[in-house]
Amino acid sequence: MTSKTGICGAKTKDGVCMNAPVQGKARCRLHGGLSTGAKTPEGRRRISEANVAAWAERNRLIELARSLEQAAS
Ligand SMILES: [Zn+2]
Repeated sequence: MTSKTGICGAKTKDGVCMNAPVQGKARCRLHGGLSTGAKTPEGRRRISEANVAAWAERNRLIELARSLEQAAS
């Protein structure tokens, strides 16, 4: 996934990062543009899986909270 918008575009607590990406990279220096980690397919896959698992857990908790809310009303 590469950005062609000319901005970093990383998600932040305030929305989207508007910093310019590091040259040749999709992200600004604050969001991994200078990082040398996770270059291998294996490393990238591991991070991707960790992110998916984190989101799945978060969604599960949100669904749980929703169902409890509905049960209470
Ligand atoms: Zn950024």
